[in-house]
Amino acid sequence: MTDATPDCRFCGAPLTRTFLDLGDTPLANSYVTAADVAAGRDRAYPLHARVCDSCLLVQVDEVVPAEDIFSDYAYFSSYSAGWVAHARRYADAMTERFGLGPDSLVVEVASNDGYLLRHFVERGIPVLGIEPAANVAEVARAAGVPTEVTFFDRDSGRALAARGKRADLMAANNVFAHVPDIRAFAAGFAEVLKPEGVVTFEFPHLLNLINEVQFDTIYHEHYSYLSLVVVERVLGAVGLRVFDVEELPTHGGSLRVFACPVAAGHGEGPGLLAVRAKETAAGLDRPEAYDGFAPRVEAVRRGFLDFLAKARAEGRRVAAYGAAAKGNTFLNFCGVGAGDITLVADRNPAKQGRLLPGSHVPIVSPDELAASKPDDLVILPWNIAAEVAADMAAMKAAGCRFWIAVPEMREV
Ligand SMILES: [Zn+2]
Repeated sequence: MTDATPDCRFCGAPLTRTFLDLGDTPLANSYVTAADVAAGRDRAYPLHARVCDSCLLVQVDEVVPAEDIFSDYAYFSSYSAGWVAHARRYADAMTERFGLGPDSLVVEVASNDGYLLRHFVERGIPVLGIEPAANVAEVARAAGVPTEVTFFDRDSGRALAARGKRADLMAANNVFAHVPDIRAFAAGFAEVLKPEGVVTFEFPHLLNLINEVQFDTIYHEHYSYLSLVVVERVLGAVGLRVFDVEELPTHGGSLRVFACPVAAGHGEGPGLLAVRAKETAAGLDRPEAYDGFAPRVEAVRRGFLDFLAKARAEGRRVAAYGAAAKGNTFLNFCGVGAGDITLVADRNPAKQGRLLPGSHVPIVSPDELAASKPDDLVILPWNIAAEVAADMAAMKAAGCRFWIAVPEMREV
């Protein structure tokens, strides 16, 4: 099945151009126990990113059933302090820009534990969360954020609108790239928005992925790698118009795209032309610009393996921080396991006591990591390296050296 040339999930054209083939890779967010490993419950699936010559959507083959991906959902947004602050700033900015109040409705798709909508609730603005993971939705409800458990698409959007749930503002942060049927997903927003309603999408910008060799943001749950040129095409196909774009530092460089129904009156903001121009200058509107990424990724792998070989030769013990998808893609692609990395720390108690999928590095709390006194610490989520370094400052003061491995080995 995986040998055949797949078709583009947006336009249906055959996908003949490889962006990066990462080989067999375990599911990034499926943390396993020793018993899972013994029972063979740590399966690997092909991870192959391709670019469509016709519409330019960069996408990974859809080889994992969605039920497998979401069945053990261990992620809770509120465990990242930086992300909570980002959400508060968003609520402030949108409330002011679009004049939201007690008669408005804010709907967030993939609302997680309510980390974002609770800031609107505090301002007396009605909200509705849409979240596919029941256990996560329960946490949101307990925090006072009304949340429905469903996958969002054209049909569920239409059903919401039929019940009178029409939105002034919709937010979809870091979810656009995570849906297999990108067209049906986009169409849902067109169903729910009021005639002058606005939807904002945040997603990691493909331009930064390429420029900064962020290949570790590629994993099975992340079906699409988005540029503005492609997002304008997808939204245009469902009757939505992009009218502004902001560039954000989150996730190594993200875009926040503002869209509205085609007939709405929102005027174009300066960010739209600026980001279009950047993408054109980088060649993102031409298929050939996507070639040449794989050799740059190989150089990153070589740099990390050289670092580990040197540490081993010098008798240094190397640990890692951040049991998240990025680190899993990275360690598996590099072929690194528990013999090379002693422990990985994560603040999320739901992950502690388990093992990273594939590499089987044990996950511990930050305190346990510090107590193990490693010589070197590789911060896997390079996008929050400064925050992690500040949290773990006592380790650094005790002589541990901190590193990031992407886009190259670098001490922080
Ligand atoms: Zn296509």
